[in-house]
Amino acid sequence: MERDNTIFDLIQEERERQTDGIELIASENFVSDQVMEAMGSVLTNKYAEGYPGKRYYGGCEVVDQVENLARDRAKELFGAEYVNVQPHSGSQANAALYLAILKPGDKIMGFDLSHGGHLTHGSPVNFSGKLYQTCFYGVEKETGRINYDVVRETALAEKPQLIICGASAYSRDLDYAKFREIADEVGALLLADVSHPAGLIAKGVLNDPMPHCHFVTTTTHKTLRGPRGGMIMMGRDFENPWGIKTPKGETKMMSAMIDGAVFPGTQGGPLEHVIAGKAVAFGEALSDSFLDYIIQVKKNAAAMAEAFVSRGYDLISGGTDNHCMLIDLRNKNVTGKLAENALVKAEITVNKNMVPFDDKSPFVTSGIRVGTPAITTRGLVESDMEKVVELIDRVIQNPEDEANLEAVANDVNEMMQGRPLFAY
Ligand code: PLP
Repeated sequence: MERDNTIFDLIQEERERQTDGIELIASENFVSDQVMEAMGSVLTNKYAEGYPGKRYYGGCEVVDQVENLARDRAKELFGAEYVNVQPHSGSQANAALYLAILKPGDKIMGFDLSHGGHLTHGSPVNFSGKLYQTCFYGVEKETGRINYDVVRETALAEKPQLIICGASAYSRDLDYAKFREIADEVGALLLADVSHPAGLIAKGVLNDPMPHCHFVTTTTHKTLRGPRGGMIMMGRDFENPWGIKTPKGETKMMSAMIDGAVFPGTQGGPLEHVIAGKAVAFGEALSDSFLDYIIQVKKNAAAMAEAFVSRGYDLISGGTDNHCMLIDLRNKNVTGKLAENALVKAEITVNKNMVPFDDKSPFVTSGIRVGTPAITTRGLVESDMEKVVELIDRVIQNPEDEANLEAVANDVNEMMQGRPLFAY
């Protein structure tokens, strides 16, 4: 076969986009060379339906070791007794967990999508809103924060079977102990979806959900800096509360029910090349240098939030405790859509985002979401944040002036020069 230059030229183009620009999408990051190498390895050729030691295919001796290492490292990183590393994505992890613990028509209570929640937490356009009844909590208009009294009142009124805490655009830490108190009061199971702050939680710079939540799901590619994928964890395995028995008459543990819901419940063969990438990333995340990285992610976000506020930007909740922030652009008379498009032309990547109580559609939005995981991987530190915010501000002040956007793009390229991505 001839080399497929059409595709490889496009990959090169994307590499240049990532290298030359400023990446501020809060859910993105750059993986290390070793994570990339594992993902592009011969493990992609292997079928391995089942779990280590219990596969439906021969020749799994090597991938068994890889998957066991991924599980063991994840357990150590998060202090979990049980981990399933097979979900292909964060959404797949949530789908499998719901299949394990809910019946169609049961009720789930999640963080409102329009306030920063995720599609899989009950949105009507997602399987979670189609298969299950839903109810939601959000943030308070005045504070931009979750009011736990309101969460409790909603739970008492709605009596959900599952409460989900975790978000895609919430810049404050969560009180998992309080969520558990509420879940226990209404007899609900509790899931923390830590897809966004997983790296910060793993390194102890945010509250730990593991001792308080029945289940923890996460993606592996955001602050964790691993390959695209998902994972399901439990701090402690427990007997399923429905008394479901195995064919031998033994009570099924939750771990067995979740494993069964991932495979064969919702997936076929696991992606062992990605699981190898997860194992490498977890190994990296266990290191002290990853702690330095995570501390810098948080410091950069705090410095960036301060720089935005000092330029008159309206941050939801006024700042950030984690790696991201949500900015309401209405006082700048710019929509999220216009800002995103103009910033892309200036080679700064963000995403438009609904803000709580938004009066615009999800295709237009009143805000943008920004985060620091990717630029911190590129080596930017607090003292660079004022400059990044100044570049964004120049775009927002004049989003339709092409000469202005080109001038900012030149300054962006200059700033990122000499900061190569990893060697790949
Ligand atoms: N849960 C949360 C809170 C997320 O932010 C995301 C992704 O943005 C997901 C789940 C889903 O992850 P994926 O895109 O891998 O399906």
